[in-house]
Amino acid sequence: MGEKKKKIIKTIKIDADKCNGCRACEVACSAFHATPKYSSNNPARSRIRVIHEPLKDMFVPVYAGEYTAAECMGRDKYVLDGKEYDECALCRASCPSRDLFKEPDSGLPLKCDMCESDPTLTEPLCVQWCITDALVYEEREEEVEEEEEQEDLEIGLEALADKYGMEKLIETVARLSVAKKE
Ligand code: SF4
Ligand code: SF4
Repeated sequence: MGEKKKKIIKTIKIDADKCNGCRACEVACSAFHATPKYSSNNPARSRIRVIHEPLKDMFVPVYAGEYTAAECMGRDKYVLDGKEYDECALCRASCPSRDLFKEPDSGLPLKCDMCESDPTLTEPLCVQWCITDALVYEEREEEVEEEEEQEDLEIGLEALADKYGMEKLIETVARLSVAKKE
């Protein structure tokens, strides 16, 4: 058994009934994560997407979750309030079977980081911009097993290795590092 440590668990409670589909959350998230910060916005780069079935008037905000190298064997279908959503529509994974939660230029996976920044925000930006309170930020303290968290860089490298092959990736990094030194 590993060591126990205190951890702040951050959650965003989603009340889809209150979402009006304004997409302010998508704009705010993509602007916050632009380089430099707030220099541009593009919902395709957002780590929250609002899923809408045109004929079924309901919006469901979905947060980008973990990267997965292979698509899963089973598919989910949801019926909410009598309205059926497409397979995979509400899944949080950045996965090879669709373009959702991928950086449009590089194809690198996107994942919600709860707006980690220095200085820390009082509340994640998507929550601040959601005027209908469909998104509500909550924090609680829990005792958890000590675990090593995978860093964004590692997740990105894993995705590139899956896409281009490890050998090619190592070769490219080696070539770039020589070029940088010159
Ligand atoms: S900002 Fe709030 S109301 Fe607007 S789309 Fe996002 S979750 Fe829905
Ligand atoms: S919490 Fe921050 S990173 Fe996550 S979806 Fe909202 S704005 Fe984006």
